Amino acid sequence: MDVRVQIPPPAQQPIRGAANGSAACPGGSVSRYGGIEFGGTKTVCVVGQRGRIDEEVRFPTGNRPLETVRACLQFLTGQGHLAGVGIGSFGPCDPDPASPGYGCITTTPKPGWSGFDVLRTLRSGLPDTHMAFDTDVNAAALGEWVHGAGRGVESLVYITVGTGIGAGIVARSGLIHGLQHPEAGHMLIPRPEAERRRFTGVCPYHRDCWEGLASGPAMHARWGRPPQEIPEDGEDYAKMWDLEADYVAAGLHNIVCTVSPHRIILGGGVGQQAALLSRVKPRLQVSLAGYVTHSALSESIDAYIVAPGLGARAGGIGAIELAARAHEHAA
Ligand SMILES: [Zn+2]
Repeated sequence: MDVRVQIPPPAQQPIRGAANGSAACPGGSVSRYGGIEFGGTKTVCVVGQRGRIDEEVRFPTGNRPLETVRACLQFLTGQGHLAGVGIGSFGPCDPDPASPGYGCITTTPKPGWSGFDVLRTLRSGLPDTHMAFDTDVNAAALGEWVHGAGRGVESLVYITVGTGIGAGIVARSGLIHGLQHPEAGHMLIPRPEAERRRFTGVCPYHRDCWEGLASGPAMHARWGRPPQEIPEDGEDYAKMWDLEADYVAAGLHNIVCTVSPHRIILGGGVGQQAALLSRVKPRLQVSLAGYVTHSALSESIDAYIVAPGLGARAGGIGAIELAARAHEHAA
C-alpha cells in the first residue's frame, strides 16, 4: 500500500497566500481550479478556489462518454485560466498514476464507459493544465478532510451509502491508495439467518456483500419500493431502519477494527438519513462490546460518526482540492 499525497493535513501546514485557504499566484491573484465529479447518473462540473465553488453545471453522465467529457471541456475552457483540474470518478476506475491505465474507467457494467480513457480525453482539450484523477469517494473524502467535517483530524474514513457503498480513507499524510481503490463497500458482513433465507442481496458480483445488503437499491429490493417512499407511520419504517442500521453498524465495526480512524463521516442519500445515524451509533457501541475502549467511541460518539460538513458539495470541493494539490506538486 502506498500513500500517494505526501502533504501534511491543513492543521499542521496551513495553505499559504490567503486567509480563506486559497492559494495565491505570485502576482497576487487567487488560483482558480476546475473539478469534475463523474457519478453513475449525473456529472457535476465546477470551477472555484480551494474550499469554494463559484460556478457549477451538471448534466446526465449518460452512455456516450465522449459527449459527456466534451460537455465538461466546453464548460471548463470557457472559464478563463485554470491552474489545474481534478477529477473524481465513479468506478471501477484506475487512480494509480504509475499505471498505464491511469485515468481510465475499467470494468464498469455502465454501457459505453468500460475502458474509456477519461483523463486522456480531458487532456486533449486542456493540454497545458495540471490534472489529477481519483475515485469519486476519494475526492469527497479529501474535500471533507480539508474543508468539511474532517478538518483537523489526523485520519478519517468517508463512507457513502446510496446507490452503492463506497469508502475513502485519509490517513496522516493523505488519501490511502492500495493495489487498487480500497473497496470497503464490498466487504462481507454477518447476517441473521432469517434474513439470509429471505433476501439474497443485490451486488452483481457478491450478492450479499455490504453494498448488496445495505445500499439504496438493496433497500428498494428488500422492501418493494425506495426507502424514501416507506411512510414514517407505516409498520415497515422502523423495521427497515433497524435492519439497515444493523448492517451499517456491522460495516463500521469492521472499519473501526481495521483502520481505527479518528473520525467517520457517513454520507450519501441513505447514509445521511437521521433515522439511520441515530440507530447506528448505539449499535456500533454494542457491537464493539467494550473491546475498543477509546472515549471517542464510548463518550463522544456523536462527534465520532458525523454527517458530511459539505453536503452535496463534498465531491466538487474535493475535486478542486485534487486539482490544487496537482498544481502544487508540479510547481
Ligand atoms: Zn459486492
